[in-house]
Amino acid sequence: MKPTGAAQMAGVAGDPIAHSLSPSLMAAWIEAAGLDAIYSPFRIARSDAETFFRALAQTQCAGLNVTLPHKQSALAVADQVSPAARAIGAANLLTFRDGIIHADNTDATGFLSALLARGVEPARGPALVLGAGGAARAIVYALGQAGVPEIRLSNRSRSNAADLARDLAPNARIHDWDDRDQGLDGVALVVNATSLGLSGGSDLAMDWHRAPADTVAADSVYKPLQTGFLRDAAACGLGTVDGLGMLIGQARPSFEAFFGISPPERIDAHALLQAMLEPAS
Ligand code: NDP
Repeated sequence: MKPTGAAQMAGVAGDPIAHSLSPSLMAAWIEAAGLDAIYSPFRIARSDAETFFRALAQTQCAGLNVTLPHKQSALAVADQVSPAARAIGAANLLTFRDGIIHADNTDATGFLSALLARGVEPARGPALVLGAGGAARAIVYALGQAGVPEIRLSNRSRSNAADLARDLAPNARIHDWDDRDQGLDGVALVVNATSLGLSGGSDLAMDWHRAPADTVAADSVYKPLQTGFLRDAAACGLGTVDGLGMLIGQARPSFEAFFGISPPERIDAHALLQAMLEPAS
């Protein structure tokens, strides 16, 4: 239906924002659910973020997804913070109720739902997480919550991996970046949470022959959908989970928080977004 003056409202704030897939996904869910609702992209400069969030909380807007570079500002501006957002140190979901700003982090649960949707049990064995930025923090938190028995970390800047371990995985073993293949011995899950593999950049290379045959490789990068990291793992016969699963997994609880219902199951979100990323030539 066309939005009316009584439309419910939500959106996504970032800078840049034009690349975001969230408005298309949310619009498909809104339409399929027959909601009188709008979900808008907002390009907001870093210096304006907190003022913008506070002002929007005073309107009828139900909330916002928040992406780079605002995930820390979103946490700072909140009146209430979920345990996940507090532990991770970043929020990707703000909801507004009576002027009160609540911050949450659904990247963590989104990552777990991406694994479970592909039949991957995260706590099956050791997990190696590559990276130590915002995505890695959410993923390590999620793996801890899921009861993964051993977390291994490797990051270009070892000090950032050490900070992550201190905050979220004190028992994690840290491998130097150049020795990251050592983390593949006996591993069950390997996650690329670096920005390596993003279109135009170089790929993340691993010696996949060193990993057990039932290892699963998961990527947080989804542009391109088939990164070199996933392609190489698949070529060695390993299972793979692409980055769209995490994106869709974080969007589902966001939709529920904004509009009070689950996204309609009949929308194939992965196929919808894959078609946007890989349009038929
Ligand atoms: P950050 O900027 O917070 O972290 C970037 C990470 O990549 C750091 O660990 C950094 O290492 C590492 N890195 C960057 N360049 C290189 C390089 N040349 N060689 C080795 N390591 C490198 O970004 P985010 O954590 O927010 O995002 C990481 C990726 O996850 C992005 O591609 C993003 O698109 C994706 N993402 C996907 C989501 C999804 O829903 N699928 C959700 C959130 C993010 P160092 O510490 O040394 O700088």
